[in-house]
Amino acid sequence: IMQVMMPLNFLGFVYREIRQALVDMSEMFGLLEQPPEVQDKPEAPPLRVDGGRIEFRDVHFSYDPERAILKGVDLTVEPGQTLAIVGPSGSGKSTIGRLLFRFYDASFGAVLIDGQDIRDVTQGSLHKAIGVVPQDTVLFNDTIYYNIAYGRDEATRAQIEQAAKAAQIHDFVQSLPKGYDTTVGERGLKLSGGEKQRVGIARSLLKNPPILLLDEATSALDTQTEHEIQESLIQMGQGRTVMIIAHRLSTVVHADCIVVLEQGQIVESGNHEALLAQEGRYAHLWHLQLSEEGA
Ligand code: ATP
Repeated sequence: IMQVMMPLNFLGFVYREIRQALVDMSEMFGLLEQPPEVQDKPEAPPLRVDGGRIEFRDVHFSYDPERAILKGVDLTVEPGQTLAIVGPSGSGKSTIGRLLFRFYDASFGAVLIDGQDIRDVTQGSLHKAIGVVPQDTVLFNDTIYYNIAYGRDEATRAQIEQAAKAAQIHDFVQSLPKGYDTTVGERGLKLSGGEKQRVGIARSLLKNPPILLLDEATSALDTQTEHEIQESLIQMGQGRTVMIIAHRLSTVVHADCIVVLEQGQIVESGNHEALLAQEGRYAHLWHLQLSEEGA
């Protein structure tokens, strides 16, 4: 019996790993398949994560050869730090996230995690190390419990509640008459953009990845929700390296470092105070957003 059980268990494990990777990818990119050009090298070793330091070295990238999207991006996120990427629509922010997840390979330069070129390690190990919180978390017509646990069948109730607490969604869930058994999604309770994103954050936290990649929801959020998301961002950053693709400046204020991307190039970097003092692009964007909010 043992001889039969072992491989079955193993298959179950592999199946869950693959399914989780697919969930992450499909959520972030709306796609189910990896483009064929991105492949593991023969006998590639797994990524060894030691702190989760991210480095982009002179990264160039284009989706089609006619048009360069990233033009020499250099950036470093030290272990445990949070980096936020801001910049106008189309400047290449999400593309940086896709390259970190190795959905595409850089056309020049390299992306490294803890000193290892991500092209040299298995994609399975890379995807396991990076938790992705997509812009629009896909909710299933099922309970909140199921939606947080999705892809992590082995998670315990305590782990799920802990993740929900860190994502600042636990109190909200508790306030519902059916609590974690509330059905959400198209045919259930419709969650707001901010609530959905927090379910997404809880789902990712359950995976306990050393690196988190958050593609912030573009949808406008009310001040209270905005504040809760900020809290959950701070919580989820504890002990991990975080990269935020930011669409709203209010969430980047606490980031250790902010880079401003324009037309595929980093034009400014520093923390919020430093960048404001610089009175450059970031300060301009900040005052613009303030006056929009005031209007
Ligand atoms: P936003 O803030 O609007 O989300 P962004 O800064 O994240 O924008 P990216 O999504 O990285 O921008 O896109 C950068 C550029 O690359 C855009 O001009 C976009 O049209 C182009 N682009 C994005 N994805 C693809 C793709 N799959 N194929 C071809 N071009 C693409």
